[in-house]
Amino acid sequence: MKIGVLAIQGDFAEHIVLLRRLEVETCEVRLPDQLDGLNGLIIPGGESTTIGKLAVDFALLEPLRQFGKTHAIWGTCAGAIFLSKDASRNQPLLGLMDITVARNAFGRQVASFEADLEIAALQQDGSSPAPYHAIFIRAPIIEAVHGTAEVLSALPDGRIVAARQGHLLATSFHPELTDDDRFHRYFLSLSK
Ligand code: GLN
Repeated sequence: MKIGVLAIQGDFAEHIVLLRRLEVETCEVRLPDQLDGLNGLIIPGGESTTIGKLAVDFALLEPLRQFGKTHAIWGTCAGAIFLSKDASRNQPLLGLMDITVARNAFGRQVASFEADLEIAALQQDGSSPAPYHAIFIRAPIIEAVHGTAEVLSALPDGRIVAARQGHLLATSFHPELTDDDRFHRYFLSLSK
């Protein structure tokens, strides 16, 4: 199993640390040919406009789109925005996942927060999953899922914060900033 982490901007280093702890081979992806041989790719949090602009500059947009047709991709926060088909404004997007996102939906940086989420998809061995402690930093919400995309988790008020569409995964929050590796293990189960 070899998982790449898009390493052009954002908190890619934290994802790599967590993947190494799970004894997964990792690769920092900055060039199109670094996608060769990967089983899956994580797009980290950061600033989606910057990630998009640099992906255009580095000629990564089309290779990432092709990769995502057949391979697992997980976008966390800015990565989820970049993965989406619709961010309600004009910026470079991969357009792979049938979700509409709203950027900075909880307000400014100071409005960042943490919340315990129920995420049934993380259930292991049929036992009831402990709540997942999620960190939101100037996070987007997933306003709507379309087509075959499904909701994995929502806040108590119904706002969607995690979604899946086949081998594509989007989270508004940052599992790489916690010690809980359940989301990374879940992503590995989607990666082939
Ligand atoms: N606010 C950022 C954006 O719109 C996302 C923040 C994050 O990734 N923590 O791209």
